[in-house]
Amino acid sequence: MSSSSAIQLSAQGISQYYGKFAALDNVNLDVRQGEFLTLLGPSGSGKTTLLMILAGFLNPTAGKLMENGVDIIKRSAEKRNYGMVFQGYALFPHMSVADNVAYPLRIRKVGAEERQRRVKHILEVVGLGAHMHKKPSELSGGQQQRVAIARALVFEPELLLLDEPLSALDKNLREQLQTELQRIHRQVGTSFVFVTHDQGEALALSSRIAIFNQGRLAQVDTPETIYNQPDSRFVAEFLGKMNLFPLADVMRNGSHASGRCADSQLHALAPMPLGAQPVVLAVRPEHMDLHRERPILEGHNVIPAQLTDKVYQGASTHLALKVGGDTLPINLSVPGNHPGAQMNSGAPVWLSWPVQQSFLLQA
Ligand code: ATP
Repeated sequence: MSSSSAIQLSAQGISQYYGKFAALDNVNLDVRQGEFLTLLGPSGSGKTTLLMILAGFLNPTAGKLMENGVDIIKRSAEKRNYGMVFQGYALFPHMSVADNVAYPLRIRKVGAEERQRRVKHILEVVGLGAHMHKKPSELSGGQQQRVAIARALVFEPELLLLDEPLSALDKNLREQLQTELQRIHRQVGTSFVFVTHDQGEALALSSRIAIFNQGRLAQVDTPETIYNQPDSRFVAEFLGKMNLFPLADVMRNGSHASGRCADSQLHALAPMPLGAQPVVLAVRPEHMDLHRERPILEGHNVIPAQLTDKVYQGASTHLALKVGGDTLPINLSVPGNHPGAQMNSGAPVWLSWPVQQSFLLQA
C-alpha cells in the first residue's frame, strides 16, 4: 500500500453534534483506494459515529463526503452499495446460512450457479463451509458474526465497513479471522474501514490507523509511524506502553535536546522546535534495559531506579520500578533468564536505553 494511493472517499469537516456535545468535531479523513484503514480510540471517542456517517445511516451536523468529486453525504445507505458488518448485525433467522449469505447476490440478480459458487467459497473462507445448511439460531454468536462478514463480502463491495466484527469471537477464532481478513483484503483489493478499540488488532491489521480522542482525529498514519513517532502524549499512551520522564531545564543541541530528571541528565531526539510547555521524555519499554551496576554505554540514557514489584509471566517477567526515590512509575518486561527477573523488590538498579529511541512529547 503506497502512501500515494488514490483517494476513494474523503470525509471533510465532519461534525456531529447532539445538543452542545460534539460526538465528532471537524474530522478530516481520507479513505485511500485499497487500504485497510482502522478507526481506533477509547469508548465514546466517535469511531462508530464516523462509520455510520460513511455508511449513510447518519447525516452529520456538518461536513462533506467526497467520492469522485461528488459530495455523497445525502446519498442513502442502499445507494452507496458498501458492505457492512456492524456489532450485533442481525441475520435473517428463518433463512439458512447459505441463503443469508446469498441474499445480497439474489437482490443483485446474480445467477444461481454463480451465486452458489461464491457463497460456498466465502463460507469456506470464513471457516463455515460445514455449516451452510444450518439456521443462524443453530450457530454460536461468533459463528453468526462470521456469517455476517461473509454476507458483507460476497458481492465484492467497493468499500467494506466493519464495526468491531471480531469482538464476539474467542481468542483463537479471533486471531484466525484476523489472518483471514488480511488475506481477503489482499485478495479482493477492496478498501476496508474497520472500527476497533483493540490496539493490537489495529497494529496487526491496518495499512493506516486513525486515532480518535473525544470526537477529534488525534493522528492518522501507518502503524509503524504511529507507534514509533506518536505526536501527542495521548497517542503515545493509547497505542502500547510508554515510559515517561518529566524533564526540567530542557535545552536544544542541534537535532537533540536534553533535560534533567531526578538528578540525571537525559537526552532525546527533538526534530521539532521546543515550545514553552513542559515536556516529557518518552521511551517504549522494549527499548529499555536494566542493570545491577551503573553501565557505561555510548549514546544511551542512564538513570538510577528502584525495583518495586515484579510479576512472573512465563517467558518474560514484568518489572515495576520507580525513579528519583519518588512516585515516577516505570514499567518494563525482561526475559525470564534476565538478572532483573531474579532481583528482589527494593533492589537498587540502573536503567538504560538508546538516546535514538527517546523522543519528547508535551507533558
Ligand atoms: P465505542 O467503542 O464504545 O463503541 P465509539 O468511539 O464508537 O465508542 P460513538 O458510538 O461514536 O463512540 O459515540 C461517540 C459519542 O457520542 C459518545 O459519547 C456517545 O454517547 C455519543 N452519542 C452517540 N449517539 C448518540 C445519540 N444518538 N445521542 C446522544 N449522544 C450520542
